[in-house]
Amino acid sequence: MEFLQPRSLPDALAAKAERPEAVPIAGGTDVMVELNFDRRRPEAVLDLTRVPELAAWDRSDGGLRVGAGVTYTRAIDELAGDLPGLAIAARTVGSPQIRNRGTIGGNLGSASPAGDCHPVLLATGAEVELASSSGTRRVPADEFFTGPKQSALQPDELICAVHVPAASGPQQFAKIGTRNAMVIAVCSFALALDAEHGRVGTGIGSAGPTPLRAREAERFLEGVLDSEGLWGSRGPVGEAVAARFGELVAAAARPIDDVRGTADYRVHALRVLARRTLTWAWADHRGERS
Ligand SMILES: Cc1cc2nc3c(=O)[nH]c(=O)nc-3n(C[C@H](O)[C@H](O)[C@H](O)COP(=O)(O)OP(=O)(O)OC[C@H]3O[C@@H](n4cnc5c(N)ncnc54)[C@H](O)[C@@H]3O)c2cc1C
Repeated sequence: MEFLQPRSLPDALAAKAERPEAVPIAGGTDVMVELNFDRRRPEAVLDLTRVPELAAWDRSDGGLRVGAGVTYTRAIDELAGDLPGLAIAARTVGSPQIRNRGTIGGNLGSASPAGDCHPVLLATGAEVELASSSGTRRVPADEFFTGPKQSALQPDELICAVHVPAASGPQQFAKIGTRNAMVIAVCSFALALDAEHGRVGTGIGSAGPTPLRAREAERFLEGVLDSEGLWGSRGPVGEAVAARFGELVAAAARPIDDVRGTADYRVHALRVLARRTLTWAWADHRGERS
């Protein structure tokens, strides 16, 4: 197996152009599992850990550009203020060792419907920055995932960064697993309330062939918050509204039965997660939680 180790982004993109079959490796927490179990035996591996451009994050266009090589630990330590939803999701990933190695770009690269970053990236309206030696393009997160473990990433491209708007309201993420840590989501849900623009964003994980948005639930809640003037008054959101929001989120799921849970259970759990995250987020908006 050839081991390619570029030291800059242009060199990494040139290597990918020349060897599109080379498998990128960042933290290796997915790739090494596949190699160890002999599910994959690539002829070449493209190590991205020496590419400084991928490990950086900065502020741009009223949001953050987070390099693909930023780890979960760094997202928690450095980005929780601007991107609280991403930090909450990052805290639920694996163990300290996995959070130290695993990257946001690697989560996207694997494109598992259960990846914990994905619901938050959908809910916040993030965009994925992809680059090849012939140029750069930005793909909305909800167009990036094209099927189970499939994405819009082309063989000659690398994931360079995600562009995430800075939070202008509460964000939440909740995940159901069979235990509290080191667990792949049975299902998960992210909610982003954008108080500045009166927008509601959602993301469903592990309950469909790709991560999904619950658009009807978003429109419903935006309508209620707007027509009742609740963004400004910060008045309570009634239980009936939270319950209806939960129903609409559950209705947007397209789950299957698998080893981690049944489709019926996922629908039920999503109904609960949506109601619960809305209750938490709205309490944050009202200043009821510290
Ligand atoms: C014990 C354990 C627990 C885990 N727990 C969780 C969990 O709770 N939640 C969760 O979501 N995941 C979990 N995972 C999966 C994994 O840790 C995450 O998906 C992680 O984000 C992968 O990042 P990485 O940097 O290690 O990726 P890698 O393994 O290096 O790469 C993953 C995929 O992305 C591609 N890739 C990486 N970087 C790029 C790039 N810049 N451009 C293009 N392609 C790229 C690789 O080629 C590969 O296909 C767990 C894994 C293990 C082993």
